[in-house]
Amino acid sequence: MKKSTDEIRIIGLKLYAYHGCLEEEKEKGQEFTIDITFHLSLLPAGLTDNLDKTINYAEACEYTCEVFSKYKYNLIETAAEDVANALLLKYELADSVDVTVYKPHAPIMHDFENVCVSVSRTRHIAYIAVGSNLGESKDTIEKAKEMFCKLEGNEILKEATLITTKPYGVTDQPDFINGLWKVKTLLEPFDLLKKLNEIEARLGRERLIHWGPRTIDLDIIYFDDEVINTEKLTVPHIDMANREFVLKPLSEVDPYVRHPLTGLRAEDMLKNLEK
Ligand code: ATP
Ligand code: MG
Ligand code: MG
Repeated sequence: MKKSTDEIRIIGLKLYAYHGCLEEEKEKGQEFTIDITFHLSLLPAGLTDNLDKTINYAEACEYTCEVFSKYKYNLIETAAEDVANALLLKYELADSVDVTVYKPHAPIMHDFENVCVSVSRTRHIAYIAVGSNLGESKDTIEKAKEMFCKLEGNEILKEATLITTKPYGVTDQPDFINGLWKVKTLLEPFDLLKKLNEIEARLGRERLIHWGPRTIDLDIIYFDDEVINTEKLTVPHIDMANREFVLKPLSEVDPYVRHPLTGLRAEDMLKNLEK
């Protein structure tokens, strides 16, 4: 998701908490300071003067204190991670958030000014192609949707009409039901792949033949405009431009989204397929 250029910043929020690897830190506690930057469009608030259209920073401070003080963490890395995640879950308006946790009295045997960790966490938009040709395909796709949406921070923004298609690659197998979801997620690409693979496994996916029959297949087509080329994950999906059963649902869900490498829309790729 593109980072908004507008920001709300909370600077130097002071908190007392019990984080640290040493027993003494967990017993006595110490002071911490937190900086938070929310990235969001402030235009709706700026045009209406309405608090509901922005993030209430007083409330955000209260909530940060609550999350930060809930546990005794060993690491401020974990505390920062949990605060960032909680803030993105609570404030839908924020595209992303940066959290810095300072520990000015950390047990370091030298003079130092401060020590801190910073994390930046972002909401992402991904497109996931869904396919099934074994068992009760429509039910299985419905279950996959439920499982996906149960994961914190995940939301299906739009889904394509399911279509029946002829098998691709290995043609001697039943017809497929195909769909596509446009989703919002807080998961990073490899975590998203892992969660999708877990959903596939729970729904009885077996990998016996490549491109063979399957209860469910969940493939990442786009992830923001990221380009990833690894053995485990290729994004955009390496073969998407050759697949009508991906491009048709994609053009229904989002006719304007463009392939980050070729600049082509689903409709353009479909036309190329016909040539
Ligand atoms: P295809 O990816 O050609 O549609 P498939 O979906 O049948 O084939 P799977 O058995 O589901 O293939 O996945 C094989 C491996 O592909 C997975 O273990 C995964 O690591 C890898 N993979 C690479 N890129 C992606 C992607 N964009 N989405 C999902 N899996 C991917
Ligand atoms: Mg596939
Ligand atoms: Mg797959």
